Amino acid sequence: MYNNMQSNRKLSLLRRRLLTLIENPAGKSLLDVFVAPGPSARGTVYTLRRKCSKPSCRCARGKPHTTVVLTASVQGRTRLWTLPPDRVGLAREWTGRYRQFRQARDRWVKWQREILRLIDAMGRSRIQPLP
Ligand SMILES: [Zn+2]
Repeated sequence: MYNNMQSNRKLSLLRRRLLTLIENPAGKSLLDVFVAPGPSARGTVYTLRRKCSKPSCRCARGKPHTTVVLTASVQGRTRLWTLPPDRVGLAREWTGRYRQFRQARDRWVKWQREILRLIDAMGRSRIQPLP
């Protein structure tokens, strides 16, 4: 009887934790990321800064030449593409969307693992020897 009360208390604690976790509004916001419209692209956009060899050039006075590039791994190798100025905004938008999606996916996996852990603990806490 004592064992049964203890088991019921544990089960109700787990049940509360599970419901809190499932009803977490963060889960809904992750879902919003997954169903959001718009294309995405893998990779990172960044600005390369370099100096040329002309001593009279502006780069010698601290204003380096800049090129905006997109880098991404293609079949395990890092590739680099120079972005024309009119594509930079688009590339930032698409790669940002991709990154946001991946981050949301990682959080989703952690969240679901925690839910599964609680479900398994609930399942284990119900197991009792037959009378
Ligand atoms: Zn220069």
